[in-house]
Amino acid sequence: YALRPGNIRVLCRVKPVLREDQQEDGQAVVVTTNPDNESAVIVLHKGKSRTFELDKVFQPQATQEEVFQEIEPLVTSCIDGYHVCIFAYGQTGSGKTYTMEGTVENPGINQRALKHLFSEIEDKKDMWTYSVNVSSVEIYNEVLRDLLSKDGEKLDIKMNPDGTGQLHVPGLRVTEVKNFKHIKKILATAKRNRVTFGTQMNHNSSRSHALLTITVLGTDLISGTKTCGKLNLVDLAGSERVWKSGAEGERLKEAQNINRSLLALGDVIQALRGRQTHVPFRNSRLTYLLQDSLGKGNKTAMLVQISALERNVGETMCSLKFAQRVCAVELGPATQKIDRTAQCEQCS
Ligand code: ADP
Ligand code: MG
Repeated sequence: YALRPGNIRVLCRVKPVLREDQQEDGQAVVVTTNPDNESAVIVLHKGKSRTFELDKVFQPQATQEEVFQEIEPLVTSCIDGYHVCIFAYGQTGSGKTYTMEGTVENPGINQRALKHLFSEIEDKKDMWTYSVNVSSVEIYNEVLRDLLSKDGEKLDIKMNPDGTGQLHVPGLRVTEVKNFKHIKKILATAKRNRVTFGTQMNHNSSRSHALLTITVLGTDLISGTKTCGKLNLVDLAGSERVWKSGAEGERLKEAQNINRSLLALGDVIQALRGRQTHVPFRNSRLTYLLQDSLGKGNKTAMLVQISALERNVGETMCSLKFAQRVCAVELGPATQKIDRTAQCEQCS
């Protein structure tokens, strides 16, 4: 399964050219994929052709199911007690939300992952019992809001006073999910709230990160051994370089915050790659919140979404450079979280 050593898998999904994309100028296609080499993507930029090598590149016509199949082993491993992060990265309009949330007719990774988890749990029910808990937050302008609470309560991240270094988010709504039907309702609430809060805060969802966290607490029916797996599904804010568009005031502050937090994510990954002893998790709310799931012992997949159109080629190049930087990261073998005396907040 692992094509490369280390456990950050970098996948690239090229958005198909949709009918609505064709109505503007700059619609020439400058990105090509090679059916004979599933790990290469080629971009024509300033008259030169540049090849990027990643773990896997999806053809523009790849289905939601094909994309899910690629990350399914990561999802499954959270049943065995691994902590997993899956990020969708890319400029606004490149298909991040389509990949993670999807549409009613064609759901994305979030729904498929939960469906898969429930079916795995059902298969193991003679040996193990599991509880599945879900929470969802939005991070906008470095402010954390609960997407499962009606009024979008602001939340803080606190260090547990027990000295274990574990974080917790007081007041975060954590819902135990019993079955798949229930989850559809929860996901719909989070989606609706992301739009509502966005409108109230005068921004749109492309400028916030949306995080769905699923914790899977397992107990072996015979030995009593416990596992604590965690799956973090992140629809990142648009990676476009907004500050170049003459933003001022609030808009500039917002742009700086988005870019800073994406930069912080890149820095954390770089620090992990360099095996640095200090990993700057605290430099953004997002990396701080994810610090128990990012890095040593954990599994990460980055889905880099790109547009194939000429008018987006600058952003496409930036996204692929980011992808290539992340791709070289090696974290050593992943470790299961079994019988930890300090359970993560959501499991205990
Ligand atoms: P982002 O979240 O990155 O801003 P979206 O996911 O909202 O982008 O995608 C922009 C539009 O393109 C949406 O209408 C979405 O449904 C559509 N879209 C994106 N990727 C695909 C795809 N692979 N197939 C069909 N439609 C897509
Ligand atoms: Mg989006």
